[in-house]
Amino acid sequence: MSSCCDPCEGQGIKAKRILLKISGEGFCPEHQRGISMDSVNSLARQIVKIARLGVQVAVVMGGGNILRGAQFKATDGASTVQEATAHYMGMLATLMNGLALQDAIEALEQPTRLMTAIEADAVAEPYIRRRASRHLEKGRVVILAGGTGSPFVTTDTAAAQRALELECDVILKATKVRGVYSADPEKDPNAVFYPELTFDEAISQNLRVMDAEAFAKCAEKNMPIMVFNFREEGNLERAVSGEHVGTIIRNK
Ligand code: UDP
Repeated sequence: MSSCCDPCEGQGIKAKRILLKISGEGFCPEHQRGISMDSVNSLARQIVKIARLGVQVAVVMGGGNILRGAQFKATDGASTVQEATAHYMGMLATLMNGLALQDAIEALEQPTRLMTAIEADAVAEPYIRRRASRHLEKGRVVILAGGTGSPFVTTDTAAAQRALELECDVILKATKVRGVYSADPEKDPNAVFYPELTFDEAISQNLRVMDAEAFAKCAEKNMPIMVFNFREEGNLERAVSGEHVGTIIRNK
């Protein structure tokens, strides 16, 4: 395992087709909730830049800025919402984020398609793998809402699933910190940053890169994951250009 003190970091990943996973927190300023179009516009600018480089971009958004099913259920004092219902509410939250992102990207004159795993014909196409792939080939940014369409998982699972079925080269996981650390860098000043990890290292050290199930699927299929700080504009462009940005998790 390499740490931040290593003299040279490994190679980045030059990608033709990427799956960008943005958690709901990307859709609003830090420590806030809801949707802020300033935040969404910043994401849109970055996405359009890489789409114009010729990179095929599929985006999976979270919905945590609005609602996460498990948290909502836990704080539902009256217990009148079933847990599955709360998860569907979370999936619908991702659709709201997707709608905002679509308009922000199209305002920059970049064609998009919004596809959803939960039917919403008035606003989005149903997710059909082959159709999504065709959109990507045509240079449209494909925004994938509704998670997997099934409750009790998170959009990390959707990101892993879609990256695999759309044969993406890498999952770019946008976070608010530089990458993967030995501990939460916002709580532990001694947390060590890792520029590079193997799947086995991340699993054996119990490093939370994404949901365990989704991570295991990526490990099994050798789908590389790059975790980077999306609040630093330019990182995304650097990442798809083959620079080593943040933490890369892949098999040696
Ligand atoms: N969700 C779900 N199935 C999915 C994806 C998402 O049930 O396939 C629900 C789940 O309740 C989740 C919420 O939607 O908490 C919002 O997604 P997520 O928590 O992944 O958002 P993020 O943390 O990335 O903002």
